[in-house]
Amino acid sequence: MRTQVDFLYGKRQLIVDVMMDDRTRLSVTVHPDLHITAKAPAGYALEVIRRHLEKRASWIVRQLDFFERFQPRPPERQFVSGETHYYLGRQYRLRIRSGDLARVRLIGRFFEMELPDTANGDKARGLMQGWYSTHARDLLSKRFYSYVPIFKRMGAVTPEIRYRRMKKRWGSCTGKSVIMLNTELVKAPIHCIDYVIIHELCHLLYPHHNRKFYHLLGRILPDWEKRKERLERAII
Ligand SMILES: [Zn+2]
Repeated sequence: MRTQVDFLYGKRQLIVDVMMDDRTRLSVTVHPDLHITAKAPAGYALEVIRRHLEKRASWIVRQLDFFERFQPRPPERQFVSGETHYYLGRQYRLRIRSGDLARVRLIGRFFEMELPDTANGDKARGLMQGWYSTHARDLLSKRFYSYVPIFKRMGAVTPEIRYRRMKKRWGSCTGKSVIMLNTELVKAPIHCIDYVIIHELCHLLYPHHNRKFYHLLGRILPDWEKRKERLERAII
């Protein structure tokens, strides 16, 4: 049985999706997409569940804050010549000139863009996004599949990878072993990209951010905290 419980903690409204099943204790999970779920013993009344959740509220809010800090913050761009754009943590200048083709290429320190109408900002934006999306899929899948064998040796199933351009998170891992990666990651340094990939892969074995999860993450990536901090400071 599924139900939803919502309550206030300070000024924050917390909405929790609750699944009731054959278990003896209530457990709560805060997901990287800021979604809160709980599992409760089938016999619990709604009021009992609410009371349990209220007791965990400060922990829930700390988890939410953690994931919110972890969100990318894309600056507004105009897609005009001279603007700075990032790839793998390095800055490149955008240079737009008129030409018959609509294309963009990375040459030296420049994103060289050719456009029939150089004043068409929407077209320029679309070209850049296309470039990032293509390069992200290529690079992220290579890094991803290079790490998968480590996790398979530990008993994880082969995950499926999906890509999406997201505003609010770098990656996520669903219970069905689908790992979603934000194509915007390709703007961040490679060691930060690896951190996100390995973090999500660790979720194949431990869905929650518990002690076992962090123990595994620390074993595979002893400097993960530095990488995470660098990613939080990354301009993308
Ligand atoms: Zn996580």
